[in-house]
Amino acid sequence: MTLRDIGEFGLIERIAERFPTAGFEGGSLGIGDDCAVLRRNRDELDLVTTDLLIEGSHFLREAISPRLLGRKSLAVNLSDIAAMGGECRWAFLALALPGEISVAWIDEFFDGVQERLAEAGVELLGGDTTRSNGPIVIQFTVLGSVSRAHLKLRRAARAQDLICVTDCLGDSGAGLQALLEGVARNDAVAHLIERHLDPRPQLAEGAWLGASSDVHAMMDLSDGLDSDIRRIMEQSRAGARIEVEHLPLSSQLREVAAQHAWSAWELAVSGGEDYALLCTVAPERYTVLAEAFRSRFGRELSAVGRITDRPGQLLYLRDGVQVDPSKLGFDHFKND
Ligand SMILES: [Mg+2]
Repeated sequence: MTLRDIGEFGLIERIAERFPTAGFEGGSLGIGDDCAVLRRNRDELDLVTTDLLIEGSHFLREAISPRLLGRKSLAVNLSDIAAMGGECRWAFLALALPGEISVAWIDEFFDGVQERLAEAGVELLGGDTTRSNGPIVIQFTVLGSVSRAHLKLRRAARAQDLICVTDCLGDSGAGLQALLEGVARNDAVAHLIERHLDPRPQLAEGAWLGASSDVHAMMDLSDGLDSDIRRIMEQSRAGARIEVEHLPLSSQLREVAAQHAWSAWELAVSGGEDYALLCTVAPERYTVLAEAFRSRFGRELSAVGRITDRPGQLLYLRDGVQVDPSKLGFDHFKND
């Protein structure tokens, strides 16, 4: 059996089995959510997340500017803090760079890092730098905090909850596809590519949803709805039903998908890297919550399906009829 056979999630499971934590009541919550949770005192918790980006696997040097790479590599970590309902505080950066990289490239990379840090009110406190004999390697670690009452975990979804997303889905995946296929740029294509290269961590949305007791489970959408909803299903021992006609699609995605005969809804469920938030909401409270979300953020809190009491069962329906997505969520070790 190889790593390819068990995949990324199989690997994480094996590691988690070996290193169980005391559990939330015991003071810490380890592997299995967007962040580790550490108990600071009775009411306050610390959050820790880290993410590794490797040139060639996660980005191509010629496809992203150093400034945007700096912004994105920090953004994906900030998004994990947002996913817990938390506030970002401090960052550490471990960086491995090949000797031939220009100092101008490095300066631009840190311009992007500095912009994102300022936008999020986060301080860079340290890290490590080393020479790489191969690819660029970027690893941010971000620390945040959340009050215990506002913490959102993946395991808190309940049967009948509405499954909600805080933004359009599929733009980033379509942007990546446009880059890979060398699609001619127009405004819509440029929008999708920007969403892929410069994702916005939904920090204000995460804190706002964290403060609502009507929101039960929450995580961020990094691998795609199809893959990420399964993490909530596993942790909550539940099933899910996604109503494809309710997936929020941007006008740009609809336009570009139509031009190139791409399936917009398949990109929306399997595209990945949207970094919108995925949450489950008490059904009887949804209308009031969605109205308040709209007036606060000027966007929809879109209900795209329901949590069910069928553990492990994920169904896709279009107007009540079951459909099958042909592509599944991204697994780093299986899809190489
Ligand atoms: Mg995450």
